Amino acid sequence: MTATLDFDALRPPSPHFTDAHHAWRASLRRFVDREIAPHAQTWDEAGAVPRDLFLKAGAFGLLGAGFPEAYGGWSEGYDRFFSLVTSEELARVGAGGVSAALMVHTIGLPPLLALGSEALKAEIAPPVLRGEIQISLAVTEPSGGSDVANIETRADAAPGGYSVNGAKIFITGGMTSRFAVAAVRTGGPGLSGVSLLLLDLEAPGVSRTPLAKQGWWASDTAALHFDNVFVPQERLIGQENGGFAGLMANFNNERLGLAAGAAASARVCLEEAIAWAQLRRTFGKRLADHQVIRHKIVAMLQRINAANAYLEHCAYRVQGGETPVADLCLLKVQATETLEFCAREASQILGGASYLRGSRVERIYREVRVNAIGGGSEEIMRDLAARQLRL
Ligand SMILES: Cc1cc2nc3c(=O)[nH]c(=O)nc-3n(C[C@H](O)[C@H](O)[C@H](O)COP(=O)(O)OP(=O)(O)OC[C@H]3O[C@@H](n4cnc5c(N)ncnc54)[C@H](O)[C@@H]3O)c2cc1C
Repeated sequence: MTATLDFDALRPPSPHFTDAHHAWRASLRRFVDREIAPHAQTWDEAGAVPRDLFLKAGAFGLLGAGFPEAYGGWSEGYDRFFSLVTSEELARVGAGGVSAALMVHTIGLPPLLALGSEALKAEIAPPVLRGEIQISLAVTEPSGGSDVANIETRADAAPGGYSVNGAKIFITGGMTSRFAVAAVRTGGPGLSGVSLLLLDLEAPGVSRTPLAKQGWWASDTAALHFDNVFVPQERLIGQENGGFAGLMANFNNERLGLAAGAAASARVCLEEAIAWAQLRRTFGKRLADHQVIRHKIVAMLQRINAANAYLEHCAYRVQGGETPVADLCLLKVQATETLEFCAREASQILGGASYLRGSRVERIYREVRVNAIGGGSEEIMRDLAARQLRL
């Protein structure tokens, strides 16, 4: 008799989850199992999610989770652990591209809600949370993504607003989103010359080019080019030259979410590896009875447990009002290295089957690098953590 070692059983027990979190998990899982999981592979191969998925996710309350009621979200009683549940349940599908497409507003909307005018928030946030339109975040440029303080896209004063010239690259949802919160240079060099503008991606002068990728196929990624794009003054988000702080706050949240998704994706890999190791027989016994394979499995579990404990530690501190920048950086590295290790080991255990398209492990394997690079690469995360330590 073998134990059931599935996605849930492999999650270390946590003191942080209440009945409300469990209820959200159960409800979201039903939605994901009904509306996403059966189609994940088809959508990945098709390179897009259907538009009505956004409307369904809006009506269900997934898009509005954690956003203010005033704009159609729900946030009463909401805490960081709800967002961990959301990341985990979406990761359970093993289709990061679907999540990246569907949840792109979680990086696009927060700077607008944190710094934008009331009129702008009231205009943009409700249709985004209903799933009628999408909003992306456009920071990275062809000249580089890590050195955010030195972005080159310029927004020069024009009658009634700004004229934007430049380019962005690797923008999630860039082909399909109606708007993007874009980091632009309005002042001198460095971080104190950066502003945030709400760009209408259908405005004259915007051109978009789709980028083919290693993974995340269901999510479109674009190169954007701006040629004298007019942006009205009212679409400045926050103070002119004061955009950098908004970006940094966003990155901290994004890193917590990325870490939660990476740790849960690693757990998917472990679940699949165990199921296969208990079934597959080689040399007269189950794979799970070979010591080398058993060690691979517990080595995966060891790292997943460590990543989860660190994740919850960081979430607890953020929930308490702290901004533990160094730990959020190191957490992201910890979680994505765990994912990298587990994707590799699960793939080894599944053998040739893992190389065929259509399994969760195969898709996750192709998503390892975007997790390790996007939202702050390992090197940049370690560097930022070291600077925070004031060594
Ligand atoms: C699928 C996908 C989706 C994305 N979505 C978005 C999005 O929606 N919006 C957005 O703005 N961006 C997005 N990005 C961009 C992502 O955030 C950047 O790729 C990332 O920040 C790294 O930037 P870069 O690729 O330009 O690498 P670079 O900054 O050119 O760096 C290249 C390599 O050098 C290393 N490096 C750089 N500087 C140093 C240093 N000082 N010391 C040591 N090593 C260093 C980096 O770690 C990296 O490994 C996305 C990327 C991908 C792949």
